[in-house]
Amino acid sequence: MSRGEKKQGGEGVGSQTSAEPNGATRSPAAKTKPRPRRAGRRAHEVPSSSAGRGAIDRSAATGRRRSGPSDPAPRRPRRADLLAVAVVICMSVLAACSSQLDQGRSKPAGTAGPSGEVTVQFLDVGQGDSVLVRSPEGKTMLIDGGRSTERMGELLEQHGVQKVDLMVASHADADHIAGLVEAARTTQPTLFINNGIAGTTRTWERLVAVLGDAGTQFQKASNQVINLGSVKVRVIAPPAGMGDDQNENSVGIRVEFGEFAALMTGDSETKETQGWLAENRAEVRGPVQVYKSIHHGAANGDNAAWLAAVKPENVVISVGENSYGHPTPQALDLYDSRGIRIYRTDRQGTVTFRAKGDGTYVATTER
Ligand SMILES: [Zn+2]
Repeated sequence: MSRGEKKQGGEGVGSQTSAEPNGATRSPAAKTKPRPRRAGRRAHEVPSSSAGRGAIDRSAATGRRRSGPSDPAPRRPRRADLLAVAVVICMSVLAACSSQLDQGRSKPAGTAGPSGEVTVQFLDVGQGDSVLVRSPEGKTMLIDGGRSTERMGELLEQHGVQKVDLMVASHADADHIAGLVEAARTTQPTLFINNGIAGTTRTWERLVAVLGDAGTQFQKASNQVINLGSVKVRVIAPPAGMGDDQNENSVGIRVEFGEFAALMTGDSETKETQGWLAENRAEVRGPVQVYKSIHHGAANGDNAAWLAAVKPENVVISVGENSYGHPTPQALDLYDSRGIRIYRTDRQGTVTFRAKGDGTYVATTER
């Protein structure tokens, strides 16, 4: 896949291509009529008006049809009119939260690329994950939401997020989806992508219900490529044979903006990273400038073979006070021994990368 591909002035959240390995089901929305956009490529917009309302595919969201309490009865969507296509009110770029300025130049400047900057922020949600990505055009993706609805509410306000175009749940554990409930309520996401395995908690039920109310379209991760404005979002579906375990079915996301790349893979454990490597997935190959430590720096996450493929330049450990020993000395040693620059949200607060299409970037931390 050519990573130098230049896309300017993207038109919102739209799937570009959808490979379908592993027999993944596509939601009805994925069959929306194609609309030619760029030379020779199939493309379609994610429906975000009434056309998409009926397309809510609860089976995709609740996944492998564990019938019962985790599949709430369908609700009639409301607030149809509010979901006009990509109504993004992008508030001022970032809250004034940066204090410490760190380097960031992995390649010589001057390589052509899309204009403007992509922003990738690892929000300080305590023990949990939440990554906010904004395109130069103001399109917004939120990957996970931490474990606290209150905290997520504060962060959305602090960062001026009023609309989320693409919401991703890497998996259904509470430290990843609880905050998404609040984010879904206040930002009415256009599209929601998850691993297709229903959670078994009330929190999951609430999330599905709130997204239903918002008229959000559901898709199961199936290696979609989404245009978030001029930022390319590559969804990395879990490899085949992972069973039903939530961590091992974490959805990966690769963010590309010209020569810049960031990779986040939720709480994927060694088995899943091995699966991706065995499938020789181009999306997990580095070098990448920005990378999220797997599973908050747990011992069963990052491993030598995986990091040798990903080749991260910077790693962000999204972690808070916890009794699991995160981040573990093993994980920290792995990063240290490879010269990977380490950021930690528990010590530095929210960590922000602003990157240009030529691959250069600036990292700032809240404290
Ligand atoms: Zn987690």
